Amino acid sequence: MDAIEKELDRLTSRANLSKSIKDIDRCLQMLVAARSTIEADPSATASTLQSLEPRLKAGFHDATENLKDLHGGIGKYGKALDKKFKHTTNENEFDALATQQPLINRAIAMHLLREGNFDIAETFAKETGHGHTVPSTLEAEFKEMFYIQESLRQRQLGPAIEWAAKRREQLEARASDLEFQLHRLQYLVFLFGGGVDGPKKAIEYSKTWFRPFQAKYLSEISQLAGCLLWRERMTSSPYADSIEKESSWQEIVDSFTSEFCALLRLSAESPLYVATTAGAIALPTFNKMATIMKAKKTEWTSQNELPVEVPLPDKFKYHSIFVCPVSKEQTTDSNPPMMIPCGHVLAKDTVQKLSRGASSRYKCPYCPADSLPKEAREIYL
Ligand SMILES: [Zn+2]
Repeated sequence: MDAIEKELDRLTSRANLSKSIKDIDRCLQMLVAARSTIEADPSATASTLQSLEPRLKAGFHDATENLKDLHGGIGKYGKALDKKFKHTTNENEFDALATQQPLINRAIAMHLLREGNFDIAETFAKETGHGHTVPSTLEAEFKEMFYIQESLRQRQLGPAIEWAAKRREQLEARASDLEFQLHRLQYLVFLFGGGVDGPKKAIEYSKTWFRPFQAKYLSEISQLAGCLLWRERMTSSPYADSIEKESSWQEIVDSFTSEFCALLRLSAESPLYVATTAGAIALPTFNKMATIMKAKKTEWTSQNELPVEVPLPDKFKYHSIFVCPVSKEQTTDSNPPMMIPCGHVLAKDTVQKLSRGASSRYKCPYCPADSLPKEAREIYL
């Protein structure tokens, strides 16, 4: 990595570039000064220009000399990259990449839409010709999502409440409490931010809007009603604070975004963002692993399993992993974790090995209980 880092340092230090900019600035100052001298005294034109010429030439010379260095740096950086990553020029890998190209382009187009870069997404779709793989209705959906997110950031709950009310059944099916949380926030905004009429507005609002949520959220609604009594006495309350805090508005934006995406059957985070970030975190580990395996001339053949831990942040962990206590192998789709009647969990392959046949009883390796292989149940983590 040394050569690349060195060239990158050279480029990013920008010392040469800023020096060139200073040289050009100096030349401009000389020209401006010469103009004012000539304006003030036209008879001095010839002598002024004469003295200006060599100084100006020297200035431009310095500026271009410094830029030469910079151009050289860019050239070397490109060469260093090619040299370092020469194995990617492998024809087969290129072919494999080419067949994946439409999928990659689709992922990029989707990412741009999800980030709200609609113009760029459109240009991208046009220039790659792969944009059409993204359903056209999605753009309209994401535009609505951005409009509602922006309203929430401006602390306007109306559009989000309207959206949630229209999708009450779908949200309920997902056990989402988004709609109630929006109404709750609106109630608190009226109560604590509504001035003298605040309590009156809050009561009216709760009468109209809390009704459908009574059964499910009764205790929370009671607490919210209790706020009314204590409003005057409270110099600080977690409820009053919550409508002021930036974090509680961000929370409702996040909660809305995740529900909105879930109803579109998409994840809340852009998969391209997650994949590239996780990839960037994992790359040094993989690089080290490849070096060690090459040095020790070993190969890792287990599919769907890595011999190393990748230190990903918690939010990138979507499900637990299970390692069989007997075989010490991580379970996979084809070798899932199985719970046997005594409650101990083993990998499917281990159960099969222990039982030596479908109809013979085997003893649990961890307790005295014995059972039949067919009594083991697959568990989902
Ligand atoms: Zn057991």
